[in-house]
Amino acid sequence: MVVWRASQNRSKIAAMIRTKVVATIGPASDSQEMLGKLIDAGANVFRLNFSHGKREGHAAALQRIRDAAAERQAVVAVLGDLGGPKIRLGSIAGGQCTLTAGSRVVFQREPILGTPARLSTGYPAFVDDVAVGDRILIDDGNVLLRAIEKRPDEVVATCEVGGVISNQKGINLPDSHVSSPSLTEKDRSDLEWIVRNGLEYVALSFVRSPKDLSDLREAIAKIDPASPIQVVSKIEKPQAVHHMQAVVEASDVVLVARGDLGVEMDVARVPIIQKELAVECRRAGKPIIIATQMLQSMVNSPVPTRAEVSDVANAILDDADAVMLSAETSVGQYPVKAVETMRRIAGETEAFTSRFGHPFSSTPARETPVAKAVIHGASVVVRDLKPKLVAAWTENGEAARLLSRHRLDVPIVALASCATVCRQMALLYGVQPICLPDMDGPNAMFVHLDRVLVSRGLAKPGDQIVVVSDARPEVPGETDTLLVHTVGEARC
Ligand code: PEP
Repeated sequence: MVVWRASQNRSKIAAMIRTKVVATIGPASDSQEMLGKLIDAGANVFRLNFSHGKREGHAAALQRIRDAAAERQAVVAVLGDLGGPKIRLGSIAGGQCTLTAGSRVVFQREPILGTPARLSTGYPAFVDDVAVGDRILIDDGNVLLRAIEKRPDEVVATCEVGGVISNQKGINLPDSHVSSPSLTEKDRSDLEWIVRNGLEYVALSFVRSPKDLSDLREAIAKIDPASPIQVVSKIEKPQAVHHMQAVVEASDVVLVARGDLGVEMDVARVPIIQKELAVECRRAGKPIIIATQMLQSMVNSPVPTRAEVSDVANAILDDADAVMLSAETSVGQYPVKAVETMRRIAGETEAFTSRFGHPFSSTPARETPVAKAVIHGASVVVRDLKPKLVAAWTENGEAARLLSRHRLDVPIVALASCATVCRQMALLYGVQPICLPDMDGPNAMFVHLDRVLVSRGLAKPGDQIVVVSDARPEVPGETDTLLVHTVGEARC
């Protein structure tokens, strides 16, 4: 059983733990020094949240992340999170006001300095999209109104649950058909920056259908048809939950955005939706990130609540590839402790799954030809032979994604020559990515592999390892070869 000791060497800990940590960047974490500490603590992916901050701030943070990772020879991915069509209140006289239960409130199309009786939003089509009977939720659902009457440029609502509202607070319309496109003008401009600056992942907020994802892919292709960027669907709308299978299929990665999800849908359903999404992702072979309020109390406290610790452990037992920190690392007082806590919980939980197996490891996959069959074969060989590790030479990361899905009990060392592909693999459960130049032929590849594994202390001469690679030149990028190799026996 793996036991955490604070004195253990950090890189050993990072190598041991398979669940990945996504850390959101903000004022508490965007200095070069802090980014380095977060990488040392075990952050694998940094999220730049385009709902907040300015372009120059994101550009500076990106450069510092790349520098901090290069200093440590760490492989770290960066995810650009598009704000999406988040609806917000307009401005309010005095900055805030109180809505009382039972009062009538008119929402008008034209911007107005709001009062408790009359408000406007930053979304002109609000008055078109909201139908009579629809709920209007303000400030993460703390205030609830219901539409009772429609006029050409106004919606009249009654307040069912009152409270204080302030300038630009978020609005959720869980019952309405929101006509705004999933990519706003600002998103398109942010996307262009994200693609041109070589981020590894882009996340789309408020996904409703697979079409939102094909629109995003089309927009990426217009910016750079050769971009290897991968698309992350944030699941936070009931429509995405209703079309779960199709949305998962259309995504490269899924992110369970439990914050907005718990406002848009009954919060009591969130744990089960998380589990259903995890099963669906396992079937489709797509990585899943579980996010929001995982260690929320650590924003202000150096220790988490017991319930939060259980939540993180249960997310890992649900088969999360990665667990995400939001306010804990972006504005919290203890960003490094929060990452360390994630890793400690992961270490203990993975020790349990190594002994007793993953609860969902028998989820049947929708298999398709060669690469999946070869990787399935590799998983059987790994379970039978118990090699030191499995190495995957991969052009596009697919072999690593497929291996990761099998939740093997040995490290997966994934080697890629494209730096973006290599960094993308930092998100995958159990995968240790290594960036390497292209090799000339299989012999050179094995010599190099032995050298890298030995020099990094991942294996020693005489160790048996399993290798999967792409050897058939007629189908480049497809994993088609499975070998058992003894480290040190390759000759040029
Ligand atoms: C969420 O709502 O849970 C989420 C991750 O999105 P954001 O942090 O962008 O609000």
